Amino acid sequence: MNEYQQTGRCICGQVHFMVDHEPSFACHCHCESCRRASGAPYVTWVTFPIASFHVTKGAVEEHESSAGVMRGHCAACGTTISYVHQTERPQEIDLTAPCFDDQSFIEPKAHIWLEDKPHWVEIADDLPQYSQRVQAN
Ligand SMILES: [Zn+2]
Ligand SMILES: [Zn+2]
Repeated sequence: MNEYQQTGRCICGQVHFMVDHEPSFACHCHCESCRRASGAPYVTWVTFPIASFHVTKGAVEEHESSAGVMRGHCAACGTTISYVHQTERPQEIDLTAPCFDDQSFIEPKAHIWLEDKPHWVEIADDLPQYSQRVQAN
């Protein structure tokens, strides 16, 4: 642990987690997989070094949503919690921004996977938009 620490949890409280490193990135993902996995129009992710992520209560249940992609959720309530791409960026973990207790540190930098965005989702900010992932990330 160090001076940087953020905590979060699922809605039912069976899973609590903590990170002890600054986020490296945050974005709104409009991809079809995030939409279906969350049941929401898009998911806002915050990226951390995977070594800085600690489950402090309960366990994150994972399923492979596409090749090498492990999506984590609470087995009891279904809250979407994590995303790890084991082949492309195994050293990072994305966590759902809305699950953090303190929302003030979250600063999304981009919208990604615009090609999957439903027409009824309107983007009302000036962040960069990418048709798929952010290049060089
Ligand atoms: Zn839960
Ligand atoms: Zn996505």
